[in-house]
Amino acid sequence: MDEKEKYILLIDMDAYFASVEQICNPSLKGKPVAVCGEGRTVITTASYEARKFGVKTGLTIPEAKKLCPHLIIVKGDLEKYVDTSLNIHKILLDFTDKVEVFSIDECFMDITDSYKLFGSPFDTGLMIKKRIKEEIGLSCSIGIGPNKTIAKLAAKLFKPDGLYEVKSSAIEGFMNFLPVEKLQGVGIGDKTAMKLKMLGINTAGDLSRTSSMLLRAYFGINGYILKKIGQGLYDTPVKKYLYQDAIKSVGHSYTLPEDTKDESVIKSYILMLSEKVARRMRKYNVKGRTIIFIIRYSDFKTYMKRKTIKYLTYDGNEIYLEALKIFKENFNLKNKIRMIGVTVSNLIIADREKFLFDFYEKKNKLIKVIDDINDKFGEFTVRPALLTIAEKFGIVKKCALIGSRQIKKHN
Ligand SMILES: [Mg+2]
Repeated sequence: MDEKEKYILLIDMDAYFASVEQICNPSLKGKPVAVCGEGRTVITTASYEARKFGVKTGLTIPEAKKLCPHLIIVKGDLEKYVDTSLNIHKILLDFTDKVEVFSIDECFMDITDSYKLFGSPFDTGLMIKKRIKEEIGLSCSIGIGPNKTIAKLAAKLFKPDGLYEVKSSAIEGFMNFLPVEKLQGVGIGDKTAMKLKMLGINTAGDLSRTSSMLLRAYFGINGYILKKIGQGLYDTPVKKYLYQDAIKSVGHSYTLPEDTKDESVIKSYILMLSEKVARRMRKYNVKGRTIIFIIRYSDFKTYMKRKTIKYLTYDGNEIYLEALKIFKENFNLKNKIRMIGVTVSNLIIADREKFLFDFYEKKNKLIKVIDDINDKFGEFTVRPALLTIAEKFGIVKKCALIGSRQIKKHN
């Protein structure tokens, strides 16, 4: 083949959510940690220390505790993981702009045109691992291959902290004895894997040797793709990085310095959080139309209400008014409030939107001016009057922490 050999990487973060929690809270380092979804009792990710005890994704907390009594349960914080992902993407983009976000903790990269700047493809992988370790504090596993399928399979082979390259000349040997179940996540679902086994096709090698006619008869048009996957030759291009695709929602939450029933304080917090969220949305160039309001009372009961509005926004005041409406319509101040969160989801890229009215144009310009001033002179130099209440309550300074999220010690 005189076609130029391609070098595709899959970067797969190790025990991602649990590892992020461990770097944010060093007291969790080296300990068995399990991350659960908000209000859920099912484990999303277990740290490698916890995996040694058999703790894994999908177990309930009681099941996991039985296996590992000293397991530390941490409530997941998706915003923190998204922020960390975006920081990882920034590092990857130093190596190529062909970075395709596959999931919150996995990215494909095509370094065919750029690896020579860093040595070999393997050297490039080493350098990426080193930078993610040094700058973020996390370990990842990297697979290198001539296409996405091989890169993904190679990344799963040695985890955690692995780096493995399969050259195109080695594909056949690499695939030959690979069980078809291992092809899940590279285009083959578990039902298809089961069907293949029923047909006596147990390995990728078997699949590669099965006639196209037979595969077409059983799987229709997908039969062709299946054969290609089995051969390790299935190939789709790595897309260029689209910042906005990586972001599903933007949100901030904040635990009050002391629990309160004071409505003016609550309102000032909602405004502060809304402004923070809006500012970050503008930075990401996204607008959204679903407002999510989260509240935690002093007894740790936590509630979340969402509302989809008729227009798209990245305006702090609009988000504030909607969040405030949700608050007033659904919650009371009989009990003290401990934590508040505001999130906007259902996002689209702001640039794609056509502005129909001059009014919006002007408002957007004004917002831009405020952001520019704040960039030059620090956060909230220009601010709505209500924020002064927040200042008195001592939260403006602390809110600077929200961006990097402080660690919640409770629960
Ligand atoms: Mg992973």
